[in-house]
Amino acid sequence: MLNRYLDHLMPAAQAQALILSKVQPLGVERVPLVDALERTLAGAALADLEVPPFICSGVDGYAVIAADTTGATAEQPATLRALADLPAGSVPTQTLTAGHCVRLMTGAPLPPGADSVVMVEDTRRQDDGTVAFLEAIKSGKNYRNAGEDVKCGEVVVEPGTLIRPAELAMLAAVGMSEVPVYRRPRVAIIPTGDELADVTEVPPPGKIRDSNSWSMLGQVRKYGGVVTMMQRAVDTVEHLEARLDEAAQDADLILTSGGVSVGDYDLVKDVMERRGCIHFWGLAVKPGRPLVFGEYPKPAGSGSVFFFGLPGYPVSGMVTFEQFVRLSLLRMQGRRLLQKPSLRARLGSDYRGSADKVDFLRVNLVQRMGEWWAELAGVQGSGRLSSMVRANALLVLPAGVSVVKQGDWCDAQLTDAPEIA
Ligand code: AMP
Ligand code: MG
Repeated sequence: MLNRYLDHLMPAAQAQALILSKVQPLGVERVPLVDALERTLAGAALADLEVPPFICSGVDGYAVIAADTTGATAEQPATLRALADLPAGSVPTQTLTAGHCVRLMTGAPLPPGADSVVMVEDTRRQDDGTVAFLEAIKSGKNYRNAGEDVKCGEVVVEPGTLIRPAELAMLAAVGMSEVPVYRRPRVAIIPTGDELADVTEVPPPGKIRDSNSWSMLGQVRKYGGVVTMMQRAVDTVEHLEARLDEAAQDADLILTSGGVSVGDYDLVKDVMERRGCIHFWGLAVKPGRPLVFGEYPKPAGSGSVFFFGLPGYPVSGMVTFEQFVRLSLLRMQGRRLLQKPSLRARLGSDYRGSADKVDFLRVNLVQRMGEWWAELAGVQGSGRLSSMVRANALLVLPAGVSVVKQGDWCDAQLTDAPEIA
């Protein structure tokens, strides 16, 4: 009965739209600014004042009335009397009048009456306390207007923005010592498979080390989630259900790896169909066809938790995480920009992909003579974790494109670059 899902493989775009229609942003919490980096801003950040808050000098120099320097040259300088010294942080007490200047440091407020600032390099201090101006200056030079960067009341950071160092600084500039951010998704990771051994073990005969838990941990953290590593599930229904029940208590999202194909011990989707619900199983993507997306009940009828059953093959798991799980994590964090940027690159060698699925090829982008080239990062088997290690991008061959020739232009998704609109 389950196999009906595989009769019609869902296109990647449809699966992504389905995920976005189901998954909603988690709650909002307030964190001190010091903890806001890499979080997602919930609600618009508004400026509580103008930045800069007053007209200030852009250079170290002298505030002047520009007309006082008319005709000045190195040979015949204009001479003005210095009224005061204004370091940054001080407040002018006098109005500047004709024939006078005020020494200012960068960031100091422009005194009333002044209409320009002459750089100290274009002046000479003289023994009698006057200052010689070696060239004429026009009015309006070398100062910054109040509010020229940010107007009071303006939105300085949009809701749903990832807080990078620049946003952190802007939030500080508008006085947000506490920042509303979306809660980080709590993600439970359950590796499945009788063949798995721990990282600390030399695998006994027939076993392999569990590497998928670690790619999942890395990808969850990379996209802002908090990981709980659950105990491994061996391939029995009872054991798997017990792990899922445990995970569902606290998690916002459960990830399993393995057990989603059509083999005798691939029990994950059977358990999901019986205990939870499956939104999709079977995608027109390669690698990653058997990815499962669904929901699993929380204990005592208190709703459900989202679920992805990632394929066991290491590359399939990582690629489907990038395309589908990433989207869920960003949506849970209320993120506004969701698309991975791509660039156009020429494929470095001939390739025959699948006709009916979108292929994601592990490639290395290199620039040669002003053009981007995508070199295959080794043999493209789903079990070749080394191809992921070598790759810096995923080349996307849409469904319907199967034969690509060396030099053909394709889209390469920059998996490690931040999201765009
Ligand atoms: P499965 O989908 O469970 O049949 O697994 C497909 C392939 O992925 C098998 O060769 C598994 O041994 C391998 N595999 C499954 N889980 C892991 C894991 N956690 N780490 C590394 N390889 C795995
Ligand atoms: Mg398995």
